[in-house]
Amino acid sequence: MTVQVENEVAAREYIQAVYETVVKRNPHENEFHQAVKEILESLTPVIAKHPKYMKHSILERLVEPERLITFRVPWVDDHGVTHVNRGFRVQFNGAIGPYKGGLRFHPSVNASIIKFLGFEQTFKNSLTGQPIGGGKGGSDFDPKGKSDNEVMRFTQSFMTELYKYIGQDTDVPAGDIGVGAREIGYMFGQYKRIRGAYEAGVLTGKGIIYGGSLARTEATGYGCVYFVNEMLQAKGLSLEGSTVVVSGSGNVAIYSIQKATQLGAKVVACSDSNGYIYDKDGINLDTVRRLKEVERKRISEYVNEHPNATYHEGCNGIWTIPCDIALPSATQNEIDEEMARILVRNGVKAVGEGANMPSTLEAIEVFLQAGVLFGPAKAANAGGVAVSALEMSQNSMRYSWHFHEVDDKLHTIMKNIYRSSVQAAEEYGHPGNLVVGANIAGFIKVADAMIAQGVI
Ligand code: NDP
Repeated sequence: MTVQVENEVAAREYIQAVYETVVKRNPHENEFHQAVKEILESLTPVIAKHPKYMKHSILERLVEPERLITFRVPWVDDHGVTHVNRGFRVQFNGAIGPYKGGLRFHPSVNASIIKFLGFEQTFKNSLTGQPIGGGKGGSDFDPKGKSDNEVMRFTQSFMTELYKYIGQDTDVPAGDIGVGAREIGYMFGQYKRIRGAYEAGVLTGKGIIYGGSLARTEATGYGCVYFVNEMLQAKGLSLEGSTVVVSGSGNVAIYSIQKATQLGAKVVACSDSNGYIYDKDGINLDTVRRLKEVERKRISEYVNEHPNATYHEGCNGIWTIPCDIALPSATQNEIDEEMARILVRNGVKAVGEGANMPSTLEAIEVFLQAGVLFGPAKAANAGGVAVSALEMSQNSMRYSWHFHEVDDKLHTIMKNIYRSSVQAAEEYGHPGNLVVGANIAGFIKVADAMIAQGVI
């Protein structure tokens, strides 16, 4: 056996052993296992080439969160009834900066989901090139159908516990599913009240009038489309004239639709957690925004105003609509192997993951085998956290940049993420595979910082 092959075998055995320990130590946490598997397997060439990572037990340390905090969140509804939800914050890795990552309010939230998101976030944040560590949090609270006052009471109770663990130099949460401008506003108010100080950098995604950054709302969706554009341009393709399907109708989906449309694409479908709409002439974003952002209604109502469009119950069917570009922007595991095969059969050219882990491992394999341009979440949707870091910079400077300044910086960051992912994929023997490239590029910086800081 050559030294190279020997190193490869040793790397594989090491990775397998770490993965088995993760499964044993974190039973029933399927989403966390899935995220760890995806990342660890892609690191084989880098571990084989640099045995120092094995020597310093970097993977064993990386898969164990520095801290996982869970807490009780009691709150009283409009009828005087007391409810108890569970709050979470995982501070996964602080090697390159304060923990940074969103808060998710959704009934499905549990330790597995928070840990998968926090683990992925560590690599994503590193990829942006900014000094931010990995964190994530949330609650199994369901904001759907709750009044503004109920949401306010819940978020105040949530922050009354969370404030102990966060701060502008320690841990900086932001929004995610179910946490938008309204929730961030209530949480910021409560934090400020408890601390008795205006520490604007403690949360990102704030309203523009009290410390938020222009273009933060748009950043994840715009960034995802910028990333897809880079992938297309490298192959001589373009968004101009292409047909696009976007799942979800929340923050990421809405601004992906907006940017894709600005760049000349036609977006024919989007969805919510009940079903999807198909409008062959191109969906009307103003209607979607009013229904979802203002009136907080179901996407099914769209067809009442646009009789040419059709509504279909169930979310997954959206991937049976023929398209050139698919932007899954709702939630994890929304494209499985079967849906990936249908997309490929219908001629999809590029997939940009706006959501976190929207494609199963099997679906990713189908896309890569078929030669579909595939932008993995931690690269394609990193624009949100990148602009969150820019919001932190502006808060520290007590200064605000114009929209176009932030958008230009976002554009540059997305191009850099694309370039570093492509380079890492090439350097480690997987040209064109951005899953491997993004994971390796994100990993190296965090791992080297951990070695430099000793065994902590
Ligand atoms: P929103 O809450 O704004 O929107 C989520 C959308 O997805 C809604 O349309 C929602 O439908 C739908 N959805 C939620 N859960 C499910 C489900 N289980 N099945 C089907 N549809 C579902 O969230 P965001 O747009 O902020 O987040 C979407 C994804 O993007 C998440 O994976 C998030 O982690 C990721 N992301 C978000 C970033 C951000 O800056 N916001 C940054 C990076 C990643 P309904 O209206 O019925 O609830």
